Amino acid sequence: MIKVDNISKKYGRLQALKNVSFEIEEGQILGFLGPNGAGKSTTMNIITGYLSCDEGSVSIDGIDIMEDPKEAKKKIGYLPEQPPLYYDMTVQQYLEFVFQLKKVRLPMKEHINKICDMVKINDVRGRILKHLSKGYCQRVGLAQALIGDPPVLILDEPTVGLDPQQIIEIRKLIRDLGKKHTVILSSHLLSEVQAVSDRILVINHGTIAADEMTSSLTMTGRSTEKLDVIIEGRKQTVKSILAKIDGVTAVDERGEVEKGCFEYIIDSKRDVRRLIFRALAKTDFSILSMKPVERSLEDTYLNIITGKYESEGDADNDSNI
Ligand code: ADP
Ligand code: MG
Repeated sequence: MIKVDNISKKYGRLQALKNVSFEIEEGQILGFLGPNGAGKSTTMNIITGYLSCDEGSVSIDGIDIMEDPKEAKKKIGYLPEQPPLYYDMTVQQYLEFVFQLKKVRLPMKEHINKICDMVKINDVRGRILKHLSKGYCQRVGLAQALIGDPPVLILDEPTVGLDPQQIIEIRKLIRDLGKKHTVILSSHLLSEVQAVSDRILVINHGTIAADEMTSSLTMTGRSTEKLDVIIEGRKQTVKSILAKIDGVTAVDERGEVEKGCFEYIIDSKRDVRRLIFRALAKTDFSILSMKPVERSLEDTYLNIITGKYESEGDADNDSNI
């Protein structure tokens, strides 16, 4: 449904995105996760055609956003980080205005009624936007994105600034919308994307750092493992023993670290530490050390965030991850 192919973007000398590629299937809810400044909004602005990229391409349902922006944009409902609201209008006036702006060819009254029901803003339709709470403004922002029934929804930090009750409501709404739409939502909170997404894409410093299905993440807490092991003994034999262990996907021999002792990097689908121990216990080869080198997405993401905190002293509410 959405294909992002190798996009790069510079702002002056700052490389905001570097060779970012991913695809999203129809009906998927993709959580786009990364600390502030990672490149989430830049990516979303490029996907929606509001910003051009220096390299690469984006297509929506097969339509290239640069070649045919008008057609591609019809397929997208976009809620930018700052909802594009006209604060002196009433909710009703604003939605009619957006309807006309998008040149939607549906019966206006029924269409706007349907959307107001969906996002639950019927009781404030006559109110002026500047008098609405942040939660209601965000719903109106969502309503604006839904006008024209686009199959794709792109939501940039849709729960920022909302109170806990409003967050729960908006998340539920996004999950409901995900039943009929392909959705990308961004957040700097792992808990947030975990709560609503089918799949999580982590972005850091303008590159994709991880891409995981949420189900594998929540079931196991970690999806792939990497171990650094030092074993004394003939490397060819040891390597073949390691490679035969159930769950091991790759064994990379890294050289002799002490006389007769070799280091191996072992990739596996699950925790194989006990199996390695048992397999080698049957031989004369000794394990001298064994330590994990790659951790779960949660750990990886926490490291990203922690690095961010150290570098910028940023202390907003990420502590609830
Ligand atoms: P995120 O949405 O993940 O917080 P952004 O995509 O907004 O990240 O920003 C990525 C990087 O690009 C940041 O370092 C940010 O400061 C920079 N940036 C974003 N927009 C602009 C701009 N219009 N001009 C210059 N730099 C920008
Ligand atoms: Mg942003």
